[in-house]
Amino acid sequence: MIAVDPTGRAQEFRAEIVIVGSGAGGSSAARTLAAAGCDVLLREAGEHHDPATFDQREETMLPRLYAGGGAQTTADQAIVVMSGRGLGGSTLHNTALCVPPPPAILDRFDREAGLPGGRAAVDAAVADVLLRFGARPMLAADENRSNRLLRAGAERLGLSYESPLHNREVCDRCGFCILGCAYNRKRHAVFAFLEEAVSPLPGCPPPAAQSVRSDGGCGAGLRPKAAVPFWKKIAC
Ligand SMILES: Cc1cc2nc3c(=O)[nH]c(=O)nc-3n(C[C@H](O)[C@H](O)[C@H](O)COP(=O)(O)OP(=O)(O)OC[C@H]3O[C@@H](n4cnc5c(N)ncnc54)[C@H](O)[C@@H]3O)c2cc1C
Repeated sequence: MIAVDPTGRAQEFRAEIVIVGSGAGGSSAARTLAAAGCDVLLREAGEHHDPATFDQREETMLPRLYAGGGAQTTADQAIVVMSGRGLGGSTLHNTALCVPPPPAILDRFDREAGLPGGRAAVDAAVADVLLRFGARPMLAADENRSNRLLRAGAERLGLSYESPLHNREVCDRCGFCILGCAYNRKRHAVFAFLEEAVSPLPGCPPPAAQSVRSDGGCGAGLRPKAAVPFWKKIAC
């Protein structure tokens, strides 16, 4: 893989495993493989965003955080497919609700296809992910008027309901989660999987969200554990 670093210098990288995309899936796979001793290169097409530059405006944040500026569709343009573009992928701008896989579904997967390592291993992996994302219960104070009305309506109709876990820390409840958390209160995939596992390329900034400038670059790569983040265009 040939990459161009922030100074425009071309560099060649070799790795045992190259993972494309640093979202929920790619970053957790990269960390797990790196922790198991593999030499992993994680490639990301988007920027490493600095939350301090998030302005809570749709016209600036959709083009920055979403593939196709938030207007990505299926080939026939019938369905909008919103997905993230940036280090951390869609976890940067998602709604921060953490819903573990329902036990009945895991049981069925296990019965019909066999879960890798068995149900106990998957339960342990789910617990690890929830811990890393900082998943926590929603407090009554976290509910807004719409939530309270929905709850009252469910109670009146005799419907069951529950509040999901969420991965915001000291949330100000501004309601702009899907435009990226300008207060950096969401424990997204960079916090959950990449920070501790990544070692920087000499001369390049580490991936701590606050410390990397947002520069409109269109590519980034980083190597968990054994080496290398860099934050500019990548050519393969
Ligand atoms: C608005 C919104 C709200 C959501 N709210 C929730 C929620 O509350 N709770 C929840 O559990 N889920 C939520 N989701 C869904 C959740 O965020 C996604 O399911 C999850 O992030 C998907 O993980 P992923 O790794 O498959 O992809 P993503 O997290 O989308 O990551 C994909 C990454 O791959 C990169 N990439 C793609 N192609 C290339 C390439 N060729 N080279 C290099 N990099 C590439 C992209 O730039 C992106 O960073 C929400 C999603 C959206 C859009």
